[in-house]
Amino acid sequence: MTQGVTVWLTGLSGAGKSTIATLLEQELRRRGLRVEVLDGDIVRQNLSKGLGFSREDRDTNIRRIAFVSKLLTRNGVVVIVAAISPYRNTRDEARQSIGRFLEVHVKCSLEELVRRDVKGLYARALRGEISNFTGVSDPYEEPEHPDVVVETHRQTPAESVATILAALERAGYVHSATLSGTNGTPRQSDPV
Ligand code: ADP
Repeated sequence: MTQGVTVWLTGLSGAGKSTIATLLEQELRRRGLRVEVLDGDIVRQNLSKGLGFSREDRDTNIRRIAFVSKLLTRNGVVVIVAAISPYRNTRDEARQSIGRFLEVHVKCSLEELVRRDVKGLYARALRGEISNFTGVSDPYEEPEHPDVVVETHRQTPAESVATILAALERAGYVHSATLSGTNGTPRQSDPV
């Protein structure tokens, strides 16, 4: 059976993980691949309902996401995870258990995050109104050896997606669009 891959997007809130996940999903589907997105916000409403933001709860949340990603990956799905996943060890655990794994650091300067403030949370966190807010009042452990870094304060979303796709192709996890059929459908022998 052909195998999939997990693209793990880690980074601070508002850095662009969901935006990039959606665009990447569209492009991979266009190429005929099976894709699932596990978005942290949505997972917390379902699979991880009731969990909070302590280190223990965050780790439990990430381990659940990693478990589902592993099942999907070994069944040929391209899984895109969009989750802050602030702890290095837990991300490394996910890599170990999933195997076919691309860690993407979705990086953005704090200055730009505060300017965007997509959910209005940075202003509140900086006023001291939110404890356990990653990057302000809670730790974020940057990846030491990410497979890919995208810098969303100086890239468009499309550029970030192109960087990730190129890395997926270089690693042999997906074929380049030009190798696929003219209608975007992969050949029978293509790995996914
Ligand atoms: P996250 O999922 O990391 O919390 P979101 O994707 O919800 O972040 O929000 C990121 C915001 O930043 C969006 O409003 C998006 O349009 C904007 N943005 C600007 N540049 C980029 C980029 N290069 N990649 C992703 N998002 C970007």
